[in-house]
Amino acid sequence: MKIAIIGIGSVGSAVATAVKNTGLVHEIVLFDRDGVRARAAAEDLGHAATFGFDVKITAVNNYRGIRGSDIVIISAGANQKPGQTRTDLLQNNADVIRDIVPKVMANVDPKRVILILVTNPLDVMVMLAQSLSKLPPSRVIGTGTMLDSARLRTILSRQLSVSPQSVHSYVLGEHGDSSVIDWSSVTVGGLSLDDFCRQTKNPLTAATRSTIEYRVHNAAYEIIRGRGATWDGIGAAVADLLRSIVNDEHRILTVSTVNGTGSHVLAMSLPRVVGENGVIATLNPKMSAAEVNALRRSGRIIQKNFSHL
Ligand code: NAD
Repeated sequence: MKIAIIGIGSVGSAVATAVKNTGLVHEIVLFDRDGVRARAAAEDLGHAATFGFDVKITAVNNYRGIRGSDIVIISAGANQKPGQTRTDLLQNNADVIRDIVPKVMANVDPKRVILILVTNPLDVMVMLAQSLSKLPPSRVIGTGTMLDSARLRTILSRQLSVSPQSVHSYVLGEHGDSSVIDWSSVTVGGLSLDDFCRQTKNPLTAATRSTIEYRVHNAAYEIIRGRGATWDGIGAAVADLLRSIVNDEHRILTVSTVNGTGSHVLAMSLPRVVGENGVIATLNPKMSAAEVNALRRSGRIIQKNFSHL
């Protein structure tokens, strides 16, 4: 399995590290328009690889070097500076995707390649990449709210004093400020959230829920304030997504892919079954009327941003 990563900044490097540590790929090629940066990253990662799985890691000077890649991960583009929203990156990063996707597509097998999008604003970039690549929507996958769902899971598990592995909870919609916490579908050890709280005599008050919502929605802003950017969480999320694809695991992940046609086309995160052919199925989770309305609003925001391109 050969994979290519385009854009070797903080996120691309973290993705390369996390993917290397899965042991699932034999070759990783790195491309960045800043060739010096990509070569330095390949050197450093190559040294790291001697301590773990035998993975060949090289930097390439042009897109011919990505030939033979089964999966291409796009993590190039501007990141948020303190105080910026993801939507503030729209025009700049749309130009980056317009530059990259045609060059990628000229050097991969369109019948089998899978594109993984990480660049923000994520959902709009998925829509743009899918339309430029002309690949089936099932093979143009954005990490979407995987990270937001992981943040929710972590915060909830600490609040409930159980392992995150026993909590199933989803953040849906835009990977951005309008994302929606689907409280209605949360289960803990197979119980609904309310039943779990009742049985453990650990009630989750409305105030606590709104604090959790605030922390999930603001997690990236807090991390960016503290360390300038976010990279470890998204690196792990991409590796997790890659694992489900490479091993054909059929895991249910909140990734973003394009659904619909014409003026109804939209990419946003819903729980989706992911395997070797990409997204295999999309689920409609249990939601309250208020959550459905919030999800629709989130979809309208993504479509509006896409219409500005
Ligand atoms: P960074 O500035 O550290 O690195 C970006 C890299 O992209 C740079 O090395 C730059 O040279 C390269 N690049 C820019 N334009 C390019 C082009 N046309 N071709 C090839 N390379 C190009 O930024 P970062 O912190 O690594 O973030 C990268 C992207 O990932 C941002 O858009 C950020 O918002 C996004 N991100 C997404 C998530 C998520 O959950 N989806 C999480 C964190 C960051």
